[in-house]
Formats: sequence, C-alpha cells, structure tokens
Amino acid sequence: MLPRTDILARLRETDPAKLEELRRQADAVRRENVGDDVHLRGLIEISNHCRRRCLYCGLRADNARVRRYRMTGDEILASARRAAEFGYGTVVLQGGEDPNITGEWLAEVIRRIKADPATCDLAITLSLGERSEEELALWRSAGADRYLLRFETSNRRLYEKIHPPRSPDAKDRFALLPMLKRLGYEVGTGIMVGIPGQSYNDLVADIELFKKLQPDMIGLGPFLPHPETPLGRESRPAGGDQPSNDEMTTWKMLALTRLACPAANIPGTTALATLNPADAYETSLQWGANVVMPNLTPPEYRRLYEIYPNKADARESAEEFHETWVRRITALGRGVGVGRGDSPSYLQRAAMLMETTMLLSKKTPRISRI
Ligand code: SF4
Repeated sequence: MLPRTDILARLRETDPAKLEELRRQADAVRRENVGDDVHLRGLIEISNHCRRRCLYCGLRADNARVRRYRMTGDEILASARRAAEFGYGTVVLQGGEDPNITGEWLAEVIRRIKADPATCDLAITLSLGERSEEELALWRSAGADRYLLRFETSNRRLYEKIHPPRSPDAKDRFALLPMLKRLGYEVGTGIMVGIPGQSYNDLVADIELFKKLQPDMIGLGPFLPHPETPLGRESRPAGGDQPSNDEMTTWKMLALTRLACPAANIPGTTALATLNPADAYETSLQWGANVVMPNLTPPEYRRLYEIYPNKADARESAEEFHETWVRRITALGRGVGVGRGDSPSYLQRAAMLMETTMLLSKKTPRISRI
C-alpha cells in the first residue's frame, strides 16, 4: 500500500509523464491479477421507486417529477434471458430502496432465474440499497450471489449529510458491508469523486477504507449534479482542497484503487461515460478497470432511471450496446470474458471457507449410536 503522502501527491499530480506512469502501473497490476478479459454484466434497473432522500440522487423520494415504475417478475426474467442470449455471465438487478420489493417477492424472482434452463447459470448481483438482515439472508439463500452497496464517501460527516437515515436505529452502509460478507455474498462498494464538501484527504481515506474492507467489486464515478436534488443545486467550491468531479480525477482514483485492491473487479462506470460518451469506457479499461455493464433495462423504463441527468446508454438498444461493446473490447486487444467472472478476492475467500469447513468437519467427533 502506498503511503498516505504518495497517494495524495498522485491525486494532485498534473505532469502528463507521471500520470502516464500511474496509468501503466495500474494497467499492469490489473493484467497480472484479473487478466485481460473484460466481463460484461447485464444491468436490469428493476424499479425507480425509493423511500430514501439521498441529497445527490434524482430518484430520491422527494422528487415528484420522476414517473415511477417497477418491472414485473416476467419482465425481469425476459431481460435476464437477453443477458444469457448475449453470453453474459451475470445479471445485476438494481433499484432504489423500494418497499414494495419485498423479501419474498424478490426471492421468488431470484428462484425463477436460477430455475429457468436459459438463465440458471447466470450469477445474480443485487443492488437495492440498505435492506434488513432477514431480507439479505433470504435473497442469498434463494440464490443471489453478489451485493453492491456504495458508501460514496468515507468521511462520516459528509456521509451523514448526503444520506439522511431512514430511522435512527437502521444499520448504515458501513455496517452492512461486513454483514454481506458474513452472509456469503461477493460484495461490492464504491464512491463518488468530487462531491461538494469532499477533500483530497477524504479521497485518500476512501482508498485506505477500500484496502481495509477488501471488497470484491469497486465502482468509482464522478459526482454528477442533478438539478432536482439539494446537492445538485448547491454551488461547488472550486479549487483548493475540493477535488474536481472531472474524468482525470476519477481515473487517478481508479488507478490508485486498482493498486490498493489488485484482485477486485472494477467496472468502467456509466457516470464516467456520461461525462465523455466518446471513449470514457475504453479509457477506464486502460486505467485499471476490467468490467462493463451493458444496460438491458427495457427502453421505456431505462430513461426513467435518472439518478443523474443525460445518462449515457439511455438510448441504445441492448443489441446495439452489445455489438458495439464486443467491437470496442476487441479493438483494445482484449477479450470478452466468458462465465461468471467472480473476482479472485472472492474465490480466495470461498476456497478458504471451504477448507476451514472441511477441517472442522474432520475434527468434529462422531456420536456413536447406541
Ligand atoms: S441513492 Fe439509492 S437509496 Fe439513495 S435516493 Fe437514490 S436510489 Fe434511493
């Protein structure tokens, strides 16, 4: 792990030669640890209802301008079949904290995906906000494989400002991440870069927290202001200790995260592609990323899932996105990943757990029948 002062210096670096050195270093660590294949995950935005009021998010409960939708179980299964047809190894079921997505309802959807001959081999990633331990355990036992829960910033004061709690005793995202690991999920988290009020030291602390938590997946995107949110209307302090929410600052964070967590899966995010639709995905893949999430949400819903405005990939059909992506990955000299694409960090953890279980079962004395 780089010392704190080195991380800070690299985040503030402007010399093109030194930035290229950082990029090469992250790209080499990526190749050595997760290989050259780019894994495609089919993203299905299953609901834009949300009971929360996160200060940066266009789906917040207070935004009356959003037309709300919730996909049916049949629609979700049909989108999962598209993912399987394209050869993807994973579907990501993403949504707001929708109280009508109940534990049992979603467990049944997960069971259907796992039972359908066309989709049974897909890994299922959930990204549905802060849910109760009972729901998370139920979904895991129904067949869910992974859970994404971004803490967005490790600065507790800023975290609490931008995530008003649902109830004073509810577990927050920091408390839920270790619990998700205990439940056996492959766990993802992430941050936003350039949140108003964030500092360079906060970004260093984010990387240190990644190092401590060792997540299996890490998503990084720039803060993109949404005009219908309190943070989107707040003026950003410019310069000084406020990091920019631009592409370069996000790429520096991506590279430093790859160096801190070599075995994690790291996607090129839609937020970065929204800043630069031309080539942000490709550039991310050259700064340490190894995953892309093509959007398989039916078009009539996709444009309503507006966490931030002018979201990239809102218009392309699933077919267009898929074909473009295979071409773009090949042009980079990389291959399209086959299979589930579990992160090496998760596979190591799962292997250790299996070994411990076997050892314990050997040590347990047999109770002889009388
Ligand atoms: S960030 Fe997630 S939990 Fe917060 S308002 Fe948006 S959808 Fe809801």
